[in-house]
Amino acid sequence: MSSPYDRLFLHGSEDSQEEYRQAMNRAMDVLIRDFASAPGPYSGADPQSLLRVYREVPVCPEDGAPIDALIERIGTTVVRHSAVVTDPACIAHLHCPPLSVSLAAEALVSGTNQSMDSWDQSMSGTLLEERITAWLCGIFGYDPGSDGVFTSGGTQSNFMGLLLARNHFAKRQWGWDIQRKGLPPEASRMRILCSEAAHFTVKQSAALLGLGEQTVVTVPVDSRHRMRADAAAEILASLTAEGLLPFALVATAGTTDFGSIDPLRELAGLARTYGLWLHADAAYGGALVLSDTYAVRLRGLELADSITVDFHKMFYQPISCGAFLLKERRYFDYIRLNADYLNPEEDEDHGIPNLVTKSVQTTRRFDALKLYMSLQHLGRRAFGEMIDFTVETARATARFIRQDPQLELIGEPEMNAVVFRYVPPAVPGETEEEAGLRADLLHTEIRAQLLAEGRAVVARTRVKGRVCLKFTLLNPRTTAEHTAGILQEVKRIGGMLGRTAARSQAAKKGTESLTIDTSNGAKKKARAI
Ligand SMILES: *Cc1c(COP(=O)(O)O)cnc(C)c1O
Repeated sequence: MSSPYDRLFLHGSEDSQEEYRQAMNRAMDVLIRDFASAPGPYSGADPQSLLRVYREVPVCPEDGAPIDALIERIGTTVVRHSAVVTDPACIAHLHCPPLSVSLAAEALVSGTNQSMDSWDQSMSGTLLEERITAWLCGIFGYDPGSDGVFTSGGTQSNFMGLLLARNHFAKRQWGWDIQRKGLPPEASRMRILCSEAAHFTVKQSAALLGLGEQTVVTVPVDSRHRMRADAAAEILASLTAEGLLPFALVATAGTTDFGSIDPLRELAGLARTYGLWLHADAAYGGALVLSDTYAVRLRGLELADSITVDFHKMFYQPISCGAFLLKERRYFDYIRLNADYLNPEEDEDHGIPNLVTKSVQTTRRFDALKLYMSLQHLGRRAFGEMIDFTVETARATARFIRQDPQLELIGEPEMNAVVFRYVPPAVPGETEEEAGLRADLLHTEIRAQLLAEGRAVVARTRVKGRVCLKFTLLNPRTTAEHTAGILQEVKRIGGMLGRTAARSQAAKKGTESLTIDTSNGAKKKARAI
């Protein structure tokens, strides 16, 4: 007897395989037509018209639609209005184009739908993930006593690092088991150090860990946005003198804005002196480990107690894919929970791993396969060269900016992120503060206009209180010619909007408010769909 639902799932029958092939082929066609062949990094559709289209269709209709028509409609209404991460002008964030081989891997990951929590839900997956994490530990310089686990990304990996650091400290300091008893009474005195350029997830983790954001003490950075080890030493001395309890130091290898790498070896020395857990956030910079040229920049990473690395950034994997690496495997015991149904003792007795014991997730994807297949297909050398290429593109872009009086480079690129400002012509009689505010608003408008025209997706950030533009040049398809072209667009739009702003400011001279009204221009340019 066959089930009436057979047709909906892929299995041995020809019918079901035909349905699967059709669905996947249609999805592939739509991806190629509405995404890969897009003329720019964004359709330019404005949010209101997109919402209108989505409201026309009930989320859950009483009766379903055929798969062909459905995928077709998703192509024209959803896929077409994506951020086209493969476009050379999509350079806002640490948001990469995924390698084609990893897209094939993704089809196998979701098609087999293995769950990494227990061996009996992912037999080959469990063993292969263990092999890959062991390799990762090795290339980051860890000894065989180390271990790791795949995570949803940097947020989860940073959380895990600080979670283990917190529990380790309480155990060592007071013999207190946080997992069982909750926070100790002294918890309000515990402190985490990171640089002021560290990722916001350090504070977020502190909050989630019940320690509060007040636990995080930020250390000043030098002119290259790297944590100042001398300042960290001073802060540690004064915290200790005040009776506070620093227990973790977070070093960043690749800050989100500038790609700066903290002085890892010096910070490891400080961590040793003060008995701190050193967590290295290499979410962005970790990929340099594959490069013949730049791997040396990560020297000292092997001294960290734990490491965050993301694969959905400079390893070109589809979201999500990251890992958490731990120098001393036994510290995973701080988060070990026993669920009788997931990690039966007889498995452990037979050396069968159930990875749930190392993770804060239960059901978990076999994302390791994507990274594995990508490494197997490209090989270390080609992978490393591809990363070097993006660093070269960033350098060339920085050169263009430095040579152009209408642009100002904010710091040499440390990796492949380039931060800069457009310098609008001066307006006579304007104070420095007014000029600064006008330029800030102008940068916000330039970014919005590039997006609305569908020319480029660039980021905006603040450096020392001033709004800047940022290119994050992860995409190896982006060349120096592309960035030169986008810089020309920045100047064109800056000139166009700057004139309007200067006029409106001259008209408003003497009034309190200082605004630039270019929203109309931007709206007219935004295409309705
Ligand atoms: C991206 C990033 C994170 C957050 O990682 P997700 O993968 O987005 O969760 C943390 N730290 C740094 C330095 C990052 O660049």
